Amino acid sequence: MQLHVLQQQFLTSMAQTRRVTRSQKETVMNGQNGEVAGKHDIKPGEWGRAWEVDLGTYLGVVGLLMFAPLLVFYFFLSCDKYQCSLSGPILDYNGGHVFYLWELLPKATWNAWKVGLIWLAYQVVQYFVPDVLHYILPSYKGGVQLGAVTPAGNQMLYLVNGLQVWVVTHILFFANAFYFKLFSPTIVFDNWGGLLWVANITGYVVATFAYVKAHFFPTSREDCKFSGNVFYDYMMGVELNPRIGKWFDFKLFFNGRPGIVAWTIINLSFAFKQYELYGHVTNSMILVNILHAIYVLDYFWNETWYLNTIDICHDHFGWYLGWGDCVWLPYLYTLQGFYLVYNPVILSSLHCAIVLILGLSGYYIFRDVNHQKDYFRRNDGNCIIWGKKPEYIQCRYTSSDGKQRQSKLLVSGWWGVTRHMNYTGDLMGSLAYCLATGFGHLLPYFYIIYMTILLVHRCLRDEHRCKCKYGKDWDVYTARVPYRLIPGVF
Ligand code: NDP
Repeated sequence: MQLHVLQQQFLTSMAQTRRVTRSQKETVMNGQNGEVAGKHDIKPGEWGRAWEVDLGTYLGVVGLLMFAPLLVFYFFLSCDKYQCSLSGPILDYNGGHVFYLWELLPKATWNAWKVGLIWLAYQVVQYFVPDVLHYILPSYKGGVQLGAVTPAGNQMLYLVNGLQVWVVTHILFFANAFYFKLFSPTIVFDNWGGLLWVANITGYVVATFAYVKAHFFPTSREDCKFSGNVFYDYMMGVELNPRIGKWFDFKLFFNGRPGIVAWTIINLSFAFKQYELYGHVTNSMILVNILHAIYVLDYFWNETWYLNTIDICHDHFGWYLGWGDCVWLPYLYTLQGFYLVYNPVILSSLHCAIVLILGLSGYYIFRDVNHQKDYFRRNDGNCIIWGKKPEYIQCRYTSSDGKQRQSKLLVSGWWGVTRHMNYTGDLMGSLAYCLATGFGHLLPYFYIIYMTILLVHRCLRDEHRCKCKYGKDWDVYTARVPYRLIPGVF
């Protein structure tokens, strides 16, 4: 764990045990009477991803670069050859040569390359099709949208049409499955092993291209960060918002399109495969398809809002996002459906109801928390939250162009319960996906383990960034809202 994260944990725990002093209370204003909290001396642009790399971070980065791809292959192999038993590949070792697993790995077939590259090219073409949905659906925000202000003070325009791409893609998928029959609806499952190679090679090419581009032709030199450590920069990225030309945005495209549009297509392909193999689709598979589809649709319905999330606003584009979007997301976020092809679990009605209630309530919390912050920030605090004028902390920060800017931290509604109730809702939903697979194997539970690590780490990372950005104002906020995810616990 990085030293600064430990420092931040310490600072936060100090803030948690401290009582809110009178002067701190005075900085918490209601919507009618905001006031700027005390000054702090942060050097411009020193918030955001790390500028310096310690040994622990360096080892973590090298470890991830080496082992994350192997883990994905291992999971694939466990299902493909051992019915999703995680210990299967290890127990199979019979004293022969240690590379016996290599021989079991899938091959990068020509067919898989065709499927993968056609999918990528199709997504690039769709990315540039102007959005018409926002004309038809008045409450949907699509078309050309303005992104957040970067640390260097830049603000970019984005082509938001993800919902349209998702809808068109799914219409084409069903039209093909039931009418045109040009290819089998199980095409993804049938090529899943070969596609793993295609996705990995694409992920590394994208990450390497982004790294080289950042050095020779960055989109905004002022928004680049060099830590001086090649591995760290390669993994965490150098450029904040790499683009080709005016409109092809790497983050918006790779974060949202090839992987997230594919997510529900992949799940559908798994459901069709179950039908082909067993003559029916299990209630567990239907549950997984429905709960994932709600999450994916939510993403596209709120794509403009996602322009203000950490991925787009703060994370730089490197292997972490490039490879992650090409491999980690499509392979590990869909693990439950993949598992259910090999293990067609049938759930009792009670089990189904519990999963559904947990999944839907998690989704509701996740959405409502995110909506509250967005609504509050859009209206600059002049709104009603949970029937009252919201309370907030008025903060001051400096962007790397040296300009003093202001922002508000909400302390009403969900944001007064814990500092990241949106992550809590996300985790409830993630647990529901896993529970939908029954209790036969550990492998489909990898998702909740991973999401817990991701979101707890993200929480700490975000808090470190906010502390650097807002200084003492952030301490006032953490004293006012002491818990991160679960009130009274963490
Ligand atoms: P948030 O949407 O919570 O954004 C955090 C930022 O919000 C902070 O950096 C700060 O930014 C601002 N902020 C923090 N506290 C407050 C407050 N009290 N009032 C107003 N603004 C505040 O985090 P993410 O971008 O990480 O996540 C967005 C959603 O995406 C979450 O619901 C998360 O669960 C989900 N997610 C899902 C992932 C997945 O793989 N499934 C991965 C990552 C996220 P500022 O500088 O503007 O003040």
